[in-house]
Amino acid sequence: MNMNLDNKTCGMCDVGKLRGFKDEVACGVFVDAYKCDKCKEVAYTESVMRKVEAMQRNGAESKKGIK
Ligand SMILES: [Zn+2]
Repeated sequence: MNMNLDNKTCGMCDVGKLRGFKDEVACGVFVDAYKCDKCKEVAYTESVMRKVEAMQRNGAESKKGIK
């Protein structure tokens, strides 16, 4: 299933429309993201969200170190 949130009504404010853009989630790493043109909430599709979360987890671990 190909999820496309472009032009969908924003789930946060129920007013704005989501617009696709490339969000830089890490240095030089761009993912497909959607930004509400009203409240500026940024939304990701589920698969992108998982990728971003995994990347942030890895980043936090490497900064903290493993005890
Ligand atoms: Zn919104």
